[in-house]
Amino acid sequence: MGLLRYHSIMRWPRPGLPLAIVLATAFAAMPLAQLPASDRDTLPKPKPRCERAAFRVLLDVGHSAEDPGARSARGVTEYEFNLRLTREIERSLKDAGFTQTVVLVSEGVAIPSLISRMRRANAVPADLLVSIHHDSVPERFLEPWFSGGNPTRFSDRFRGHSIFVSFENSRAKDSLQFASLLGAELKARDLSYTPHYTERFMGGRQRELLDKQAGVYRFDKIFVLRTAQMPAVLFEAGMIVNRDEELVLTTQERQNTMALAATDAIDSFCAQRQATIRAATERRHRKIPRLGRTHTENAPTGARPAEEPATARLLR
Ligand SMILES: [Zn+2]
Repeated sequence: MGLLRYHSIMRWPRPGLPLAIVLATAFAAMPLAQLPASDRDTLPKPKPRCERAAFRVLLDVGHSAEDPGARSARGVTEYEFNLRLTREIERSLKDAGFTQTVVLVSEGVAIPSLISRMRRANAVPADLLVSIHHDSVPERFLEPWFSGGNPTRFSDRFRGHSIFVSFENSRAKDSLQFASLLGAELKARDLSYTPHYTERFMGGRQRELLDKQAGVYRFDKIFVLRTAQMPAVLFEAGMIVNRDEELVLTTQERQNTMALAATDAIDSFCAQRQATIRAATERRHRKIPRLGRTHTENAPTGARPAEEPATARLLR
């Protein structure tokens, strides 16, 4: 290869190479501060990253041993499914570096156990609450059959997961953002949500579908969601009254898939939240007055909003 040809190859980028990559390569050796402002704006922005150890997730195990929720087609309680999947998600999160993850397990009967669970949840400064459940169907769809010689009930009519948010949650917008991320991660792993909650035959259990791609429904009255003082979603991981789906939901493979989907969604949500908080903090710092101005003219009040998440405090 001749010298002239070598130099011409080095100097000119390959045709079709994206402009962003060309710019990033060309400016890589140059300190950012030396670039003119207009060039700085054209550089590709690095993807925000999550500082995982500073982000606390509460994993709420739906129901309790005494009040175990739905019953599967083979007579296993929903609580057992919820507890097992929650432990898988906890393990996946802690392995990924979300070391502050807390699992909430409650004892006792429905209402008092719910209230005490939420009291404990709100006592912990946390960035996100995910309530883990498994789904059933309205009574009239259940049919009798025998499983292992025991009489029980099933419905093979519906299958799939679903995600719920409450607009009565004080951080409803963030809740919806996380719900959509979770639905997208599940979809990317070929898991489908159940669309039947939009149907009129669901009567009082009919729900508005907020995100058609991700399978996110609106359900304002869910106690856990509306009383949580942090972004919160309820995840129905699958239909345990469906005889085939019940078997799939018990496999380690499916548990791992859902745990990884949840971990990736939490990581994306954390990165976006922390980037937003960092940007707000920088904006506030830019507004701090220089010498000569009185404190009351421009300075922030110093009082942080009550709903500020744990991340905001931990990032400082
Ligand atoms: Zn449940």
